[in-house]
Amino acid sequence: MTEKTAEVIDSKALVAEIKDEIRTEVEKLDSAGWPCKLVSIGIGESAASQIYIRHQRRAAESVGIAFENRQFPADITQDEVLASLQSMNVDPRVTGIILQRPIPKHLDLDTLQFFIHPSKDVEGMNPANIGNIVYGKFRLVPCTALASVELLKRTGLPIRGMEVVMIGHSEIVGKPVSLLLMEDLATVTVTHHGTVDLASHTRRADAVFVAVGKPGLITKDMIKPGAVVIDIGINQVQVTDENGKTRNRVVGDVDYEEVKKVAGWITPVPGGVGPVTVAVLLRNAVYAAQNQRRKYEKAMKM
Ligand code: NAD
Repeated sequence: MTEKTAEVIDSKALVAEIKDEIRTEVEKLDSAGWPCKLVSIGIGESAASQIYIRHQRRAAESVGIAFENRQFPADITQDEVLASLQSMNVDPRVTGIILQRPIPKHLDLDTLQFFIHPSKDVEGMNPANIGNIVYGKFRLVPCTALASVELLKRTGLPIRGMEVVMIGHSEIVGKPVSLLLMEDLATVTVTHHGTVDLASHTRRADAVFVAVGKPGLITKDMIKPGAVVIDIGINQVQVTDENGKTRNRVVGDVDYEEVKKVAGWITPVPGGVGPVTVAVLLRNAVYAAQNQRRKYEKAMKM
């Protein structure tokens, strides 16, 4: 008898649907003379952010969104970055701004991130955009949080009344995920490094979201049979193959092969939340450009 394993949530289909929806909107913006343009700001040379930038560029160009990377030296001052952001905030040709992380330690991430105008904040990190979620107004929502929730919805399970456990309470993932799900009337428990007995919470959950950054944190015994497991973690680990060679591998926070044996649905890492996050970023870029156009046209009529 073959062992039943969890269904892998189809992130490829979700990405394809989001991109199809975007392509038409990008064309409409182009023909209205209001093209969508993303500017990515990279500071210093980080291998990780170079990979993200490549992915984002490829994805943006695949739906017809212009993508420009502005690379700054690692020793740039905070004031110089702020001045550059200000010029993009007021430039109508730039409709969306992405600040790549990590940034050098002498710069203050929050100050820079919050300085990006809320209408161009396609990553949804500005306090104004995060604050809107509390009020159930979903304008530019943090991409990873929204991508994770959309993957849960992909299962077709009713969210209302669902017991959800969110592991991790960061501003960009854990907190917005819990607010988004609360809006859909799930019963949400948020856990973090101060939580006592994490497994006692996860074991009763119909859906577990994990965004911590610890490989192997979620094991088979922590998951209720049939539950949904959304793995947001990204970790680089070293593995040794049968020939004794070590290589780097990207894994999530879930012991995927084991948890798959009890869960009902699961997302893999890589290939689960990550690609959907990029698609949501592009959709945010389109919303941002559409809103800027609407505001401009309204102002012109006054
Ligand atoms: P963070 O690094 O800001 O915070 C980590 C969170 O984990 C905190 O809330 C902390 O309290 C919690 N935590 C730490 N140890 C814990 C433990 N033992 N038990 C329970 N909770 C614990 O979080 P982040 O920026 O949201 O990133 C989390 C992970 O998600 C990282 O691996 C990151 O790379 C990944 N991530 C993925 C994407 C994506 O697109 N897939 C996007 C953003 C972040």
